[in-house]
Amino acid sequence: MVSAFIRNLHESFQSFPLSKKVLLAPRFADGQMWLHQVCRAYGHVLNVEVQTIESIALKQAALKLFQQKKTVIRPQQSFWIIQQIMMELTKGKDPYLSEAMITPGMVSCFHRSIEDLRQAFVHAKDLELSQFIDHRKGAYLREVLLRYEKMLHAHHFVDQMLIAQLVDVEKDDTIFIMPENSSLTQARQMILQTIAGERLVKPMVGLPFTASESDFPADKAQLFHATGTLAEVREVMRRVLSHENPLDQVEVIASNYEAYASSIHTLSSELDISCTYGGGLPLQYARMGRTLLKLVHWLENDFPIADFIALLRDGGLSLRNIDESIRSSEWIRTLENLHIGWGKERYVDLLESIEDGGAVEEKPLLVSLRKVFQGIFATWPSENAWSPAFIMTWLQKIVTKYGTIQNEDDAVIVKEMDDLVASLSSVDAISSSLMKKEVALQYVAQLLSGIRVNGTSTPSPGAIHISSLSGGGLTGRPITYMVGMDEHNWSVASRQDPVLLDEERQRISANLILASERGRLVKIDQNKRLGSINGNVTLSYSSYQIAEGKQASPAFELLQIFRNMQKLLDADYSAMGNALGMPVSYLSHKVINFEENFLPLDSSDLWTVALTDGHDQMRNGRDTLNAEYLHINKGSQAVMNRVSYAITAHDGFIQSDTLVAEMGQRAFSASQLERYAECPMRFYFGYVLGIWSKDEAAYDRTRWLEPTDRGNLLHRIFFEYLKHITAGGSLPTNHDRSIMQSITEEQLTDYKRLIPAPSQHILQKESNEIRQDVEWFYNEELTKTTRPLYFEQELTIDGEPMQLKLTDGTFLTIKGFIDRIDQIGPHTYRIIDYKTGSPAKYRENAYFAGGTQLQHALYALAAEQWLKDTGRDRDAQVTESAYFFPTARGVGREVVRLQDKYEVLTVLVRSLLTSLEQGVYIPTEDAKRCRYCDYATVCVNHAAFMADKKNHPDNAVRLRELLEVEAID
Ligand code: SF4
Repeated sequence: MVSAFIRNLHESFQSFPLSKKVLLAPRFADGQMWLHQVCRAYGHVLNVEVQTIESIALKQAALKLFQQKKTVIRPQQSFWIIQQIMMELTKGKDPYLSEAMITPGMVSCFHRSIEDLRQAFVHAKDLELSQFIDHRKGAYLREVLLRYEKMLHAHHFVDQMLIAQLVDVEKDDTIFIMPENSSLTQARQMILQTIAGERLVKPMVGLPFTASESDFPADKAQLFHATGTLAEVREVMRRVLSHENPLDQVEVIASNYEAYASSIHTLSSELDISCTYGGGLPLQYARMGRTLLKLVHWLENDFPIADFIALLRDGGLSLRNIDESIRSSEWIRTLENLHIGWGKERYVDLLESIEDGGAVEEKPLLVSLRKVFQGIFATWPSENAWSPAFIMTWLQKIVTKYGTIQNEDDAVIVKEMDDLVASLSSVDAISSSLMKKEVALQYVAQLLSGIRVNGTSTPSPGAIHISSLSGGGLTGRPITYMVGMDEHNWSVASRQDPVLLDEERQRISANLILASERGRLVKIDQNKRLGSINGNVTLSYSSYQIAEGKQASPAFELLQIFRNMQKLLDADYSAMGNALGMPVSYLSHKVINFEENFLPLDSSDLWTVALTDGHDQMRNGRDTLNAEYLHINKGSQAVMNRVSYAITAHDGFIQSDTLVAEMGQRAFSASQLERYAECPMRFYFGYVLGIWSKDEAAYDRTRWLEPTDRGNLLHRIFFEYLKHITAGGSLPTNHDRSIMQSITEEQLTDYKRLIPAPSQHILQKESNEIRQDVEWFYNEELTKTTRPLYFEQELTIDGEPMQLKLTDGTFLTIKGFIDRIDQIGPHTYRIIDYKTGSPAKYRENAYFAGGTQLQHALYALAAEQWLKDTGRDRDAQVTESAYFFPTARGVGREVVRLQDKYEVLTVLVRSLLTSLEQGVYIPTEDAKRCRYCDYATVCVNHAAFMADKKNHPDNAVRLRELLEVEAID
């Protein structure tokens, strides 16, 4: 059936068969869709071209504009001119708006008001302070308008107000056909009046869709409500797919376009259903868009290297055009190894310093990377000299050079970026205002949000067309879904314009449209447009807003359709609610019960059918799931084994000959054996499987050095100092505070370069703490009577790991470093291990602490053998070991262990090695150890089951050695 509007439009064409006809539409796409509908219903129409009021005005005025050397100002340009004027006005004495108040939102408000005034033919000289409730605001607005008029004049710009004065009556006999439009501005009306004059034909649009006499097929409409946007969209897709109509017979009109278009896009991509989007989709739906947003994030957060690497990794940026032979993974690995952390300066500085000392084969790659970052950071504004133009140009350069264009959307974004940069540069050439980086970034966010992808204003064959409430209902497709018809989405915002209040508008000019009136007129036009929909319609809304956790009411228009449908003119919301019944949920009960041929939409629907009985009750579907998904089955088995008493492979009981052989040949350090005693599973993850957390500098705004970095730095300082002052072999040791301090400063400078600090303040604070720790160390050293001899001594003989002979005559291949060996007296020594943490865990009576404190004994024995075997002292005896806490936190405490328990050490080491070779890599039962463990996400609560497992008699043999070790305190 053809709607009244299309009939009227056709009649208008028929009335002037031979004349040239111009069909005037709000947008070209709207006119094309009207024409398409007419052609589909009545066959070809001749001599009709689609135009907008702006396009015919430009066509008409083109010659005069050329002769007068004038150009038409674009909205984006006028926005920036207003912004610059407002910035200029902040410089005056006692400004109405300060610089901090000139935000993108504020400029948008003034830009809109100035546009409204210009469209209503209001000049600055027409504005009187008495017209404004707030005189200061009136004076400010008048000044902005005055300066804007001067700018237009000085730079030969024209806007619609000026174009209206340039156009003439159309000389030929062209007929202008324009459907009723109640919200035309005065400038547009004047252009239309001048050009078309008496030859304007206005076909009637028809009645609003809610009117009972309209063409809208309310009598056969279907209505439903759903528990959320996604549930509603899924139901629409189920209905679309359940019928046999081609997809390009369907239009979905989304009342809240942004929310619904995104949900539809997500679902249709999953289901591989083609859709066209009248209003496009936001930038982030294209890879290039995501790249731009990530680059903004990179800039905003002081250039964390992780952001740049993520861009290389997901292909948003590529360095292939620098050197095609280098794979992306090589660029990434090199960048990761640089430990840049964050901070613009560190990129080039670190690359330069590593380039100087790096391996020859790495040089070309490092040089290329340096050039990339030198290019990216080539010109840089000072603190308050930022501008949106600079940032947009910077982004454009990066995506042009390194961005990857994979599809049409990516190319559209690059083109849009070019246009935006050109437009900003043209305004910048007139005048520019500089601002803080944060403010400039706000403008950039606004500019980027204006870029749309995947947009096709007219529908395409083979695809569902998604339109908005402000442009829907024009396709003439026979199947229409109107989604999101709730009260909120359909209420007309009668918000006042904050700059030009309605009261002030009335006083200024009758040509100015009131804010309250504008909303009403828009709604009238919209409802009339929807009135021309015919065919099958389904109307729906989400009766529950999941994000806000509250109920939503249907729009009044939905009730009106319900009344028309039921022929019950006084039906109320509760009558409609009763008729609608239960809302449709994410998984439809109609699918579950196979009602009305409803198809399962995806695997979620299918699984719902499989996992529920005919009464919407859940079945125990474990067997079904396990049978279908092998990995879930294995996972379930693993969980069952974890919670049982048995010690299985899922608890880290690994039976492997290769592992046994490997453990038998391995060289162990004391800390590795201690780690095993603490938690065999952690040992297994790290030292057997080789899974370690990534060593990368992560940005923490509250901290410069991680505890390990801090410990390493202090160790380095102590080492350098002792090496320096003992170099001459003088006795007693000649301590020198100035040497200590200068070594400290040298090492601090080195670390500042290696690890970026989040701020100067944190750097200063932590550097001072390091200096204090060094002072503690120095003061403790002054009181020492022993002679420091060897520092960071590696346990090797002739470059090979030592074969340490235990008291039972067996050998252990050992590796590691001893922090320090001091001589106590003739042939007697002590070894020292620096600790920069807390001494709390070193209890006086815990000599081996269940194997977790082995180092003092193992390295004492090793040091003694090393001194003898290397000929340094054939009669050497290491009589004691000390854990030394030479920092403010450890208050210089020493925990001393006399070395008289080598037999127990042998038992302990042998038990640990046997346990390792037997494949026992079970978790600790001490859940406190899991708190800061890197593998906690894998283990989850595994430790909680281990105490019972360890105590179970069935496991006694398997765990004998490990339990023996744990018992030795
Ligand atoms: S989370 Fe706990 S049980 Fe797992 S490896 Fe770490 S310390 Fe061991």
